[in-house]
Amino acid sequence: MSKRFWLVLVLLTMVLNHSLPNAPAQRKSDAERVDLLILGGAIVTMDGARQIIEDGGIAVENGRIVAVGSRTDIAGKYAGGKTVDATGKTIIPGLINAHTHIPMVLFRGLADDLDLQEWLTRYIFPAEAKNVTEEFVRAGTRLCLAEMIRGGTTTYCDMYFFEDAIADETAKAGVRGVLGETVIDFPVADNKTNAEAMAYVERFVKKWKGHELIVPAIAPHAPYTVSEDHLKAARAFSDRTGAPIVTHISETKREVDDSIKAKGTSPVEYLARIGFLNDHVIAAHVVWPTANELAILKRFRVGVIHNPQSNMKLAAGVAPVPQMLRDGLLVGLGTDGAASNNDLSMWEEMDTAAKLHKVFSGDPKVISAQEALELATIRGAQALHLEKEIGSIETGKRADLVLVERTELNQIPSYNIYSDLVYASKASGVQTVIINGRVVMQDRRLLTLDEAAIRAGARVFREQILKSLSNPGAGNK
Ligand SMILES: [Zn+2]
Repeated sequence: MSKRFWLVLVLLTMVLNHSLPNAPAQRKSDAERVDLLILGGAIVTMDGARQIIEDGGIAVENGRIVAVGSRTDIAGKYAGGKTVDATGKTIIPGLINAHTHIPMVLFRGLADDLDLQEWLTRYIFPAEAKNVTEEFVRAGTRLCLAEMIRGGTTTYCDMYFFEDAIADETAKAGVRGVLGETVIDFPVADNKTNAEAMAYVERFVKKWKGHELIVPAIAPHAPYTVSEDHLKAARAFSDRTGAPIVTHISETKREVDDSIKAKGTSPVEYLARIGFLNDHVIAAHVVWPTANELAILKRFRVGVIHNPQSNMKLAAGVAPVPQMLRDGLLVGLGTDGAASNNDLSMWEEMDTAAKLHKVFSGDPKVISAQEALELATIRGAQALHLEKEIGSIETGKRADLVLVERTELNQIPSYNIYSDLVYASKASGVQTVIINGRVVMQDRRLLTLDEAAIRAGARVFREQILKSLSNPGAGNK
């Protein structure tokens, strides 16, 4: 046979080898490759139209949602590196716990049934002074992160000490956090002076700024524990770095009375007068605002965080949340520290928010189930000034997604999805949690944290804390 024949044969074989096996691949590559697909289930988007998509699909690439639609649509257009089957589940945006002091979980149940001042000054501040170290903070943080993931919380906003260690543990666990290092006018565990605290915050914010999970913040504790000069310095720091300011405002009637006595005006008006308020401020509580103060908070676009269970437990009062919502304030929901709650369940917090305001106002129509879920998702995102990134299931947003069981006994027979979620579902109904496109819990199995080690690590501190309180000289100071 001629050389030409062999050449033709070889060429033909090459063409066939190349084209035949590739033909199906060619068809398959019509589907766009993405990192993760979530297929099936009812998607409660919390988007502008509050769309609910039955039998939906979500495509995730690079930590962000690239498409949301029907299961058929998404499965036809995308092929996932990993696929999560959400059939029979409800998919909600990750819950946002917008006010915490997470290491305080190690004081859970240490001193209950007291008013805020007695609780703080007789138990919490002394216990903190003697026990809070970086190891304490890390152990408490890990315990909380596990509890929060199990309950479907994907973002939290914190204020504590050694916040750099909290950021480190949070990033490792794959959880999102707005994390504020405390600035307060007395010596605390990590910083003894305001100058030390400001230097810490400077390093902390520089280190974490731009991280995909961590938003570093400065946290002047409250207008009654931080001087005017130091509040102004915190604001200047925020202006210069873009870091959010996390604080407490108007938590108790006594705080308001003391403020009027000492400063001639109530807390929100005082903070407006000294130029502290703007759209970078996240203010917990705001239980006792005047009508003028609500207008100020709205004008400056301050995020207000409602903590119904903590406010109830410490008998701080009832924040006028229905009024805030009518006025268009930015309102989120938080548990506060676990020592005054005593857990980190946003499911309980939603349920409590909806019911507390009904009984307090005598109007069963205030804070509907849908509004309660909004407070824990899209409104919480607005209050943290992060609504462009999180809070709803929409194209372009971070993929923070929670799959909730829909067939538990306490969810049957199911007429209204918001009602089922807020009034009947529990943290134990959370099945799978995705944060920034990464599955951190699948089928109730934590993938980024060692639960047994966390339990053991936290229990060690129980003995130490009890000893430190019974012996005034003991512990770390
Ligand atoms: Zn607090």
